[in-house]
Amino acid sequence: MFYKLLSSLLILLCAASIRAQIKTSPDITAGDVAERISILASDSLEGRRTGQSGAEKAANYIASEFKRIKLQTLGANGYLQPYTFSEHALDTSVHALTHGVNVVGYIRGSDPKLADQTVIIGAHYDHLGYGGTFALDTVHAIHYGADDNASGTTGVLEIAENLANQNVKPKRSIVFITFSGEEEGLFGSGYFTDHPLVKLGDVQAMLNMDMIGRMQPDSTLIVEGLGSSPVFRELIDSLNHPREFHLKYFQTGTGPSDHAKFYAKDVPVLFFFTGFHEDYHRATDTKEKINNAGEANIAKYVESIALALANRDDKIPFTRSAGDTERKAASFGVYVGGVPDYGYEGDGLRISEIREHSPAEIAGLQKGDIIVQFDDMKIKNIYDYTNGLAKHHPGDLVQYKVIRGNKTITIPVVLGHRTTEH
Ligand SMILES: [Zn+2]
Repeated sequence: MFYKLLSSLLILLCAASIRAQIKTSPDITAGDVAERISILASDSLEGRRTGQSGAEKAANYIASEFKRIKLQTLGANGYLQPYTFSEHALDTSVHALTHGVNVVGYIRGSDPKLADQTVIIGAHYDHLGYGGTFALDTVHAIHYGADDNASGTTGVLEIAENLANQNVKPKRSIVFITFSGEEEGLFGSGYFTDHPLVKLGDVQAMLNMDMIGRMQPDSTLIVEGLGSSPVFRELIDSLNHPREFHLKYFQTGTGPSDHAKFYAKDVPVLFFFTGFHEDYHRATDTKEKINNAGEANIAKYVESIALALANRDDKIPFTRSAGDTERKAASFGVYVGGVPDYGYEGDGLRISEIREHSPAEIAGLQKGDIIVQFDDMKIKNIYDYTNGLAKHHPGDLVQYKVIRGNKTITIPVVLGHRTTEH
């Protein structure tokens, strides 16, 4: 009760102060992207850690924008969907509950027969605050999360603003959700899919943007979830034609972001991502490094996919990709303790750090080793490695082939048990 009252009070206070700065246009432009990211990744939002005042300010900014562009509300709390979770499982010194909110609004579909069906466009708005457990650096400083995920949040807001300003409404309803609790373990999207404000069986597709701000000059855009519906590959190729992204396809719908919670409930999903980089989960993920024009182009592309899905006659089928079925059967609790170097662009997976007392340390893996083979499986990138791990159980012995300096060596590693999920 107190929390809800406090939230609505803060909305009134913060909405007025942040709204005064708003200078975005109905079109999706590089300038609008820069404007929104500069608000979300500002000092005043303090890294948007779920449960803290910076995240609350971010939620209020998003809700005030939903209100300004006249989205409709779902549920009993206006645009807010409050929930709580315990971080105790992740950090046993934490006993308190964390309060989070998802921010949800929608545009009603124009076809009375299809308007109860929805296309969901989502992104998480939370990040790491001042660092901590999930940071890859050790500084106590604002972790701005400009790419992770002020960029995706901006994508949601820009698409919502653009669609709200069009006279012709899509046939199906479009639901816009920004989640919190993502960094601690997909708690916001987990709550939403357990307490959905729309019928999950009527969701045509869920489109998730997480880290779409670092498009490189070669215009690579990673799209995951192609295996979750047979229509996706042709659809995303046909809409890519005028834009010419260099698309990298992945079948899986289980990636480490909010769409995975929808996929687990049999909703077709697509996940858009411009890739890991050396600032990932570090205080240096700042707004100056965002490719604003590239991100605007991605948001337009995601919007075109959402519209195509909202306007087509048929409800698209859901499929579970073969790899995911196999993976679901296997344990996901494997732990090694070699931290991947997300900025490494060569073949294989380079280890940037070895966790203390981890299976990696015990086996003799070293910082700088490049993993190129995992038993019989060639490792080209982090996805191959994750897939390899997912096929194993704690206690399995795996032969790692690594490049160390100018030698290739084989090191047997006994996989450990992962106690936290992230
Ligand atoms: Zn993150």
